[in-house]
Amino acid sequence: NLSTKLDRAFKTLKGQGSITEINVAATVKEIRRALVDADVNYKVAKEVTDKIKEEAMGRDVLISVSPGQLMTKIVYDELTQLMGGEKQDIQIKGDPAVVLLSGLQGSGKTTFAGKLAAYLKKQGRNVLLVACDVYRPAAIDQLKVLGEQVGVEVYSEPDNKNPVQISQNAIEFARKNNKKVVIIDTAGRLAVDEQMMAEIEQVKRAINPAETLFVVDSMTGQDAVNTAKTFNDRLNFDGVVLTKLDGDSRGGAALSIRAVVEKPIKFISTGEKMEALDMFYPDRMAQRILGMGDVISLVERAQQQFDEEEAKRINQKIRKNQFNFDDFLSQLEQIKKMGNLKDLVGMIPGMGKAMKDVEIDDDAFKPIEAIIKSMTPKERAQPELLNGSRRRRLAKGSGTDIQQVNNLMKQFEDMRKVMRTMNKMSQTKGGMQQMA
Ligand code: GDP
Ligand code: MG
Repeated sequence: NLSTKLDRAFKTLKGQGSITEINVAATVKEIRRALVDADVNYKVAKEVTDKIKEEAMGRDVLISVSPGQLMTKIVYDELTQLMGGEKQDIQIKGDPAVVLLSGLQGSGKTTFAGKLAAYLKKQGRNVLLVACDVYRPAAIDQLKVLGEQVGVEVYSEPDNKNPVQISQNAIEFARKNNKKVVIIDTAGRLAVDEQMMAEIEQVKRAINPAETLFVVDSMTGQDAVNTAKTFNDRLNFDGVVLTKLDGDSRGGAALSIRAVVEKPIKFISTGEKMEALDMFYPDRMAQRILGMGDVISLVERAQQQFDEEEAKRINQKIRKNQFNFDDFLSQLEQIKKMGNLKDLVGMIPGMGKAMKDVEIDDDAFKPIEAIIKSMTPKERAQPELLNGSRRRRLAKGSGTDIQQVNNLMKQFEDMRKVMRTMNKMSQTKGGMQQMA
C-alpha cells in the first residue's frame, strides 16, 4: 500500500544529513510512483510532488529529526492541503433543509442515505427519507428497511415514475409533518448516461436543495475521478461522499477528486453498518494514507456510539459491586455498534500492521455471547451460582467447551476484581468523582 511504499521512499533519505537536490529527486520520484499506484491521478501526483520538492529543497535539516521524518511531515502537510485543509460540514439550511444524493448505481447512495439520516437524527433533527429511485422497485424496500433500522420515516410513491413530482410532494409532506431535513435518494445507472443526468438535473432545479452530495465508491480508482467530473459539470454539487473506505480501497480517490473537481469531501463511509459514517478530515486522511493511524476518528466514533444512559446505568452497578453478565452483554453490544472490529483496530497506530494476519471480526464475540445467552436470568444476575455442573450445561448449550466457559468466568471475575478495587480506591479518596 501507499504507506509502505512511502516508507521505502523515505529510506533513501535515511542517514543523510541534509536534503540535497540529488537525494530529493530520487525520493520524489518514488513518492510520485506510490501516489499513482494508489490511484492518484497522474497530473495531480505530479503537482503534489513538485510542490513537495520545492518545499523540501528550501529546508535546513534539523538536528532533531531525520531527513526522512522531515519529508514525512512535508508530504503530510501537502496531502492535507490538497484535500482541502479544513474539515467541511454539511449545510442544513432551509425549512425543510433538502439534501439531494447523486451518483452511479452501486456507489452506496441508499446506504449513505440511511447513515446520514441516523447521523442527523442523533443531532436531534426530525428527518424524512425520500425514495426517488423509480427504476428498481426493490430500491424503495431497501430504503424502507434502512429507515426502519434507524427509526426515520420513509416517503415513497410506488406508482409514480416521476422523480421531480415525488421529491416535490415529499417536501410538501415534510412541511405538513414538521420534518426539518429531507434526504432524497435517487436512481443511478451503471454508467453515466444522458437520461440519468437530465433527470437528476431536473430534480435539482425543481427543489433547489441546500446540499447536493455526490456519492462515489472509493474502490473505483481513476473512474471515480472521471465520474466526479462529469457529475460536477452537470450538477455543480456541493460536496463528495467517499464510500467503501473499509475495503481494500486506496486513499488515492480522495486526493484526486478534491484536486480535480475542487469540491470538498464531506463524509467517508466505512462499512455497511448504519454507524460506519465519519466526517472527512483532510489531515486525518493524510495521516491514514501515510500510515500514521487515525486515533482521533476512533475516539470520536466511540464517543458517539456509546449510549450515555446505558453508560450511567452500568457505572451505577459497578459502584455498587453489582456488575453482572447482563451488563457484560450490554457492553459487548456497545462495542459491536462501533462498527467493524477490524476497522477499529486498524485505526490504532501500529495495530493495523501488527494485526494484519490475525483474523478478527465480529465473530470473535460469538462464543462469549452464546455462553452468556445460555445462562438463566438468575445466573446472569448472580454469576457466583455458576458451579461445575452449571458450567458444563452452559458449554453444551452454547456449543462451546468447558475451557471456554471457564476462561470467560475467569475474565469476568478479573473484571469484577478490578472494579471492586477501583471502588475501594475512590471511597478512600472520599468521593466517587474519579469513577465518572
Ligand atoms: P446505490 O445503488 O448507490 O444506492 O448503492 P447501495 O447503497 O445500494 O450500495 C451498494 C452496495 O454497496 C450494497 O451492497 C451496500 O451494502 C454496499 N455498501 C455501501 N456503502 C458501503 C461501505 O461504505 N462499505 C462497504 N463495505 N459496503 C458498502
Ligand atoms: Mg440505491
